[in-house]
Order: sequence, then structure tokens, then C-alpha cells
Amino acid sequence: PKIIEKRLELDLSIDEDIPNLILGDQMRLSQILNNLISNAVKFTHKGKITFRMEKESQDASQVTIKFTVADTGIGIAEKNLGMIFDPFMQETQFINSHTGGTGLGLAITKRLIALHKSTIHVYSQLDKGTRFTFSISYILPQDTDLSPTANDASMLNLHGMNVLIVDDNKMNIFIASKFLKKWLANVDEALDGQIAVNMVNSKKYDVVIMDLQMPVMDGFEATKIIKQTHPDLPVIALTADAMPETYNKALSNGMDDYLTKPFVPAKFFDKISRYYKVK
Ligand code: ADP
Repeated sequence: PKIIEKRLELDLSIDEDIPNLILGDQMRLSQILNNLISNAVKFTHKGKITFRMEKESQDASQVTIKFTVADTGIGIAEKNLGMIFDPFMQETQFINSHTGGTGLGLAITKRLIALHKSTIHVYSQLDKGTRFTFSISYILPQDTDLSPTANDASMLNLHGMNVLIVDDNKMNIFIASKFLKKWLANVDEALDGQIAVNMVNSKKYDVVIMDLQMPVMDGFEATKIIKQTHPDLPVIALTADAMPETYNKALSNGMDDYLTKPFVPAKFFDKISRYYKVK
């Protein structure tokens, strides 16, 4: 939302070769990425924020992923680069007034990356932007039963199913569509309810996966409108909100089913495959 509010561009790229299932500390990774991405957005007034994940190496037991968070923001003066990871150091206080924050984010980030036996690197140029990179190794689970596709990968198939994903968060769309494409579905994407309504009117879909809270038109409203003209088109709510009130509201607005995110791939598959028709 902040990126949209500041009219910045988001350049998101995730290496297809990264295995779908890895074992690691997702809380710590979220904290690291949150710190870096919120700084990138905070210190950038025009241009773009880049987030990249690349597979650096892989062997039988682990995969190393290189993460990059870059921006085209205010940059950091070379003489201050050495200090930004120190607690309570804020580069802006040397230049102009402070932009809000604790000065602890990068100190914590550096420590969290060190706990993964790795190091964070920073490259920056004043008025051009900043790039942070680090690599973390994750364990590849050996017990293939952990994999949602373990029993028979070829059975998990939504071949040719036309799916519309509606979400204002590009990351959510990216993750859901990565799974759906793996299951051979055709995936279209809409960033808000209004766009979804228009798309449903111009193409035949087998199922719509609908976020609830979105700008322009939310998922409840969009579903109500879609159901007026396409009463048989299944709409599955996908939301982080697991409250029963929300579930009831979704159903009373005509939604057929409900999935909470972050979703479990096997459950996601299970719910969507119910609407799969062999063509
Ligand atoms: P803060 O809470 O101030 O953001 P951090 O430890 O996260 O604390 O960052 C320390 C300082 O490093 C920031 O105050 C800012 O001066 C500088 N900094 C961090 N990330 C960036 C960035 N992407 N672009 C420019 N300056 C940055």
C-alpha cells in the first residue's frame, strides 16, 4: 500500500528455480525483509523498489538464496555507510532532519542475518539509490511427504482451468499464481474488485479467487455484482482475516468458499480443484 500511495514502481522477481519447499525461520526472514523494504520505501520519493530472490547454489541438502532489496531513493553518503548498521545511527541526521524511525532496524537486520551465518552488504550512491544484498542457506526437506504434491505429483492437475485472482497485493498474486501455474491452470490477475468485474464480463472463468479488502472496490461488493450476472461462477474468498464475522459476511455476499492466507498449498489445491471440470 505504501508503494502505491507514494506512486513508486515495484519490481518483483523471484527465481523459478528456487524449490517450492524449504525449511527455515520464516519469522526472522520476514523481519529482515520488512526492515529493508520499509526503509527502501521510506527513503525513496520517486522511481522504483526492487525485490529480487535468486538461487545462488543448491546441493542435495540445502539451497542458498540471494536476496536483493534496492531503491532509487535518497541514497547514503559514502562516509556514513559504515555506520548505518550501528544501533541508533540514522544517516539522515547528518544531512537534514530525521524522517522518523528508531535507528535500530538495520542493527537488528544485521544481527538476524548474522544468526543465519551470513553478512549483509550495502551499495549506495547519494541521490541515486541504495541496494542491500544478503544470502541465506535453507534446508531442503528430505522427507518428501512434507511436499503437498508428494503422493503423486501428476495427479495435482488443474489443466486448462481458467482462474482469476483478485488481490491488491502483488506478492499475494505472485505466490498464488505460482502454484496455480504449476498445476497447469491459466491464471489472470486483477488488482481490485472493479477490474475483476470487468474481466469476468469479458472472459469465461471457472473460478475467481477474491481478496476482501481492496481499494476502488472491495471483494464483497465485487462478488455481489459478479453473482448478479454470473450466478454459477464460483468465488472463493482469500484473506488474512480468519474471523467468523468475516467468513459469514463473505458467504452472505454470495461467496462460495473461504481460504485464509498465508495458505497451505494442499488446502488451496483442494478447494480450487472442487470446481475443476475436465474439458
Ligand atoms: P531507521 O529506524 O532510522 O530507519 P535503520 O537502522 O533501519 O533505522 O536505518 C538507519 C539509517 O540508515 C536510516 O535512518 C537512514 O538514514 C539509513 N538508511 C537505511 N536504509 C536506507 C535506504 N534504503 N535509503 C537511504 N537511507 C537508508
